[in-house]
Amino acid sequence: MSKGLMRSPPLCFTIIQYSGPLADARSYFEWLREDDRFSDILVQISPALSGHAFPKLKVQFKPLVQVDGGIAHLPLLNPSMRATPLEPSEWNKRVEALSRSCDAFSGNVNSDCIILDLRNGYEWDIGHFHGAQRPEVDCFRSTSFGLSETEVNNSDPLADVDKEKTDVLMYCTGGIRCDVYSTILRKKGFKKLYTLKGGVSHYLENEGPVEWIGNLFVFDSRLSLPPASYNPRSTAQTCDLQHAIKKEKFAKCYLCGSVVQELRHRNCANLDCNLLFLCCSDCVSSFRGCCCSTCMTAPRLRPVLPGHQRYKKWHLYRDLEKQPS
Ligand SMILES: [Zn+2]
Ligand SMILES: [Zn+2]
Repeated sequence: MSKGLMRSPPLCFTIIQYSGPLADARSYFEWLREDDRFSDILVQISPALSGHAFPKLKVQFKPLVQVDGGIAHLPLLNPSMRATPLEPSEWNKRVEALSRSCDAFSGNVNSDCIILDLRNGYEWDIGHFHGAQRPEVDCFRSTSFGLSETEVNNSDPLADVDKEKTDVLMYCTGGIRCDVYSTILRKKGFKKLYTLKGGVSHYLENEGPVEWIGNLFVFDSRLSLPPASYNPRSTAQTCDLQHAIKKEKFAKCYLCGSVVQELRHRNCANLDCNLLFLCCSDCVSSFRGCCCSTCMTAPRLRPVLPGHQRYKKWHLYRDLEKQPS
């Protein structure tokens, strides 16, 4: 059991992520919460499908959310400047109501309510809430959702929304990014802001994959987790995944555009590129694990790995080259 991500002021969020046998993880955090210093800690127990999810203990004091311009000037400690957090059950009701009121698959938008995915584009590619658009950027840090002062950007889902009347439902993996971003949107004049408390991982634990399509991207060596790993009771995905993949144009190979069989990214075999991308098995072999033909001729190429493995330190592959074949 390991990995602590601890927040220091100005945000004052303390988060711990554990992986390990569920009963052990629960008793450990109950014990921890008895200490006043950790009584308001947010604990996430992360499922490990095979082996240890977090082989190293990490204790970090650093901003988990980075936005252009930094976060020091944001009113993060003022609850009225943040969005209203919704419990997973309440979020579920809202998203289901939105689904009923408009056909998100066909692109019809309900002008009273919008679902905003605040993660990176590649995270959306393997799973997201029904009705949430793909983020316009691969790195959230440079997103401009709702921020454009002068020109209306067509890819900005907040470009035409009524700042006074439209409900903006925001979500991210663990819930913190939304807290930060909601203060930015509040300062821009958006009135009806809501966040998914505890993020998608907390939602899947409590509600199962209702209105969720696909897998959840995670930032450790597992990369992708199916909803059932958060909530073993939910055996059947309520949304028809194949239908969703067809209609929502996600889960596509980065190279050829065909639907991938496995909702899991891989890193480009070129160490100096290292792009995270989705790739079909045919393109993995024809591009030898690379994201493009240019990377195939790069000097620091690593071998093609099976999809469930991740690259280790470069010296392991560099030294392989020196061994006689
Ligand atoms: Zn392909
Ligand atoms: Zn590449």
